[in-house]
Amino acid sequence: MLKWLKKRRENKKREKAPAKKNYSVDVRIIPRAEHGISRKNIDESALKVLYGLHKAGYQAHLVGGAVRDLLLGQRPKDFDVATDATPEQVKALFRNCRLIGRRFRLAHIHFGRHIIEVATFRGHHGDSQSGHQDDSGRILRDNVYGDIEQDVWRRDFTVNALYYNIADFSVIDYVGGYEDVKQGRLRLIGDPDERYREDPVRMLRVIRFSAKLSFSIDESCQRFIRDQGAILRDVPAARLYEEVLKLFHAGHAIKSFCGLREYFLLEHLFPEAAVALDGNEVALKFLQLAMQSTDERIHQNMPVTPAFLFAALLWAPLQVRTEKLLAKGEPHSLALQKSASALVSEQVRHVSIPKRFTMVMRDIWALQSRFSYRTGKRVDSVFEHPKFRAGYDFLCLRAQAGEISEKDCQWWTEFQKNSPEAQKKVTEPHVRRRPRRRPRSDKTNN
Ligand code: ATP
Ligand code: MG
Repeated sequence: MLKWLKKRRENKKREKAPAKKNYSVDVRIIPRAEHGISRKNIDESALKVLYGLHKAGYQAHLVGGAVRDLLLGQRPKDFDVATDATPEQVKALFRNCRLIGRRFRLAHIHFGRHIIEVATFRGHHGDSQSGHQDDSGRILRDNVYGDIEQDVWRRDFTVNALYYNIADFSVIDYVGGYEDVKQGRLRLIGDPDERYREDPVRMLRVIRFSAKLSFSIDESCQRFIRDQGAILRDVPAARLYEEVLKLFHAGHAIKSFCGLREYFLLEHLFPEAAVALDGNEVALKFLQLAMQSTDERIHQNMPVTPAFLFAALLWAPLQVRTEKLLAKGEPHSLALQKSASALVSEQVRHVSIPKRFTMVMRDIWALQSRFSYRTGKRVDSVFEHPKFRAGYDFLCLRAQAGEISEKDCQWWTEFQKNSPEAQKKVTEPHVRRRPRRRPRSDKTNN
């Protein structure tokens, strides 16, 4: 019994000393004194989680983008934690914990509306039945637990594979990520072709990180994207929607867009737009302005809607389709409606856009021709349209890009500045109706 207790105590001690882990592969430990990550820049909730795990004897590391961004002196978007505790063990430790995910089970620890994601180290699949790839090498399931040395190889870029160890505040680096952060370089871990095939979304992630961090993309990771971008078409449209939002709604939409074009990926996400934009300087300018305005709004903490950006991205192909129907003699509003429906149905096969946004996109598009109204009740109906503001902003960007005259937009700018009385004068019917004649019968009765 005594022997058993002693053994148990020793086991516990070993668990509680993650800093002394025997790292067998080439590993660089950057001690606290040598890197710039300070706990005062780490989210309070994340620290609570890290300390909670550590005190319970588990390994606890801040990982991924948070370590990368902290090393760069930037504020991370989110703070992810990696541990050797299983999701169930994490749940047992934190009352505010919920387990999510099927592909890979994760623990979400809730602090009000704020969530800290805790992932158990992932392991190698080997011949296991629980980790599966399809014929093209794409990972379909990914739910084998492992240790930190295995976890590191599951991550995408070296700069995303650094671990900040709460046990001694060091940074653990297995793949040269620390140097790559310093050099501003994005490098996939392992064989690039294989890693892209495993998860084609990594091609979008490299464009995004390059835009966000102004990092260069290592030569070894460039060729595959240019040649094999088409494998993006195997990725579910809903996942691509999430990734596209991250590309365009994180304050660096212009750079991301340029990256997508440079690496010929736009045609796999927005095929009709890619064709319609090719060589169309005005349409490109318009899109550039739309992205610039999105970036500015995000930097100023103003709200943005995916509908506006998608409406802008698909504006050029919408016009191509509409022109074709007009040439066939369709009336304008019908041609626009039909084109919008067909374009949206085709687009959502690639990047699925939720219906609540496609409806707003269609409103923005439909308003554009209605902005030519200048008198009467029709002006009112445009002005009172729930999407007037988005439609008007869209109109002004078109004018700025030189697609339409500045005057078209100025008229509406002035109209909005007017007092309600002055607005009423414009929206009142111009031709006064003659007073109704009295019915004959009245006359005879008098
Ligand atoms: P940011 O949050 O700034 O967009 P991030 O690097 O934190 O960037 P997340 O999408 O939050 O990116 O993912 C967290 C971490 O999970 C990444 O840093 C990376 O280590 C790993 N990861 C995420 N997606 C993938 C992927 N598709 N393939 C491999 N590893 C991934
Ligand atoms: Mg992150």
